Amino acid sequence: MIDLHTHTTCSDGTDTPHYLINKALSEGISVLALTDHDTTSGWQAAIDALRPGLDLVLGAEISCLTNDGLSVHMLGLLFDGTNQPMQEALENTRDGRIPRMHKMIELLREAGYKITFADVESVVPEGATLGRPHLADALVKAGIVKSRDEAFLDLLNNNSPFYVSHLAPTPVEAIKLIRAAGGVAVIAHPFATHRGEILASEDFLPMKEAGLNGIEVDHRDQTMQERDQLRKIAAELNLVMTGSSDYHGTGKLNALGENLTDPAQWAHLESMANERRVVRK
Ligand code: AMP
Ligand code: ZN
Ligand code: FE
Ligand code: FE
Repeated sequence: MIDLHTHTTCSDGTDTPHYLINKALSEGISVLALTDHDTTSGWQAAIDALRPGLDLVLGAEISCLTNDGLSVHMLGLLFDGTNQPMQEALENTRDGRIPRMHKMIELLREAGYKITFADVESVVPEGATLGRPHLADALVKAGIVKSRDEAFLDLLNNNSPFYVSHLAPTPVEAIKLIRAAGGVAVIAHPFATHRGEILASEDFLPMKEAGLNGIEVDHRDQTMQERDQLRKIAAELNLVMTGSSDYHGTGKLNALGENLTDPAQWAHLESMANERRVVRK
């Protein structure tokens, strides 16, 4: 059972890397990718917690912004964690998330929602990449909404008047960074229409030309029809197809292993990294 997209307390998940590794082992996952938003800070804790029976794939989900202002997520797997340009780019994005959070809070306050930056800080795990789910947690704590999901329904989704984007590389820039660091690039949930506006079919060719390796097809935020369209694009451009849970702990309904990647697809994807970087004990 191969699950190539998960989050921990190093970004907006609720399980620590240690807990996630234990959970993956006990649930029979054979290959697990750790893909926190814009950070590699959980890698060492995951390596330390690893035991025989699980292959660990270290990665990150890189936030991207297209030239048209569209939010896109790029999974980088198996890249060299010491690569300087990559670490600098991730740090820039994390830094940009702080003024963005201030702006979203300002807009919410102008509309009468009594929430402060300190409220958000009080719910963010130490060192975690700051994100909207933390703002959601603060809104829950303040009694304004009942859950993260409810917070995204009206207040925090990409189409809401309170949504603010943050600085981030373009998808093509992110792909180039990942490949230059020796890793493989898989575009995450590209047709998740319920989250907001999505890429057009013709946007995949420039990404392929930049070195894109795969497309996340089986993901709960994509309908069967959207997945069929993605399978067609993947076949045309000779891209690997993945399936994954995008597990966030108790922060989302997504269950670990609810969508999986075919072993042959994974073998092909792994073979395109410049070194054999899967961690095993
Ligand atoms: P951010 O990186 O701060 O823009 O927040 C993105 C994260 O918010 C995603 O990784 C999800 O965990 C969560 N998220 C985004 N859109 C939704 C949505 N419509 N419903 C629930 N959670 C969402
Ligand atoms: Zn997330
Ligand atoms: Fe994502
Ligand atoms: Fe994700």
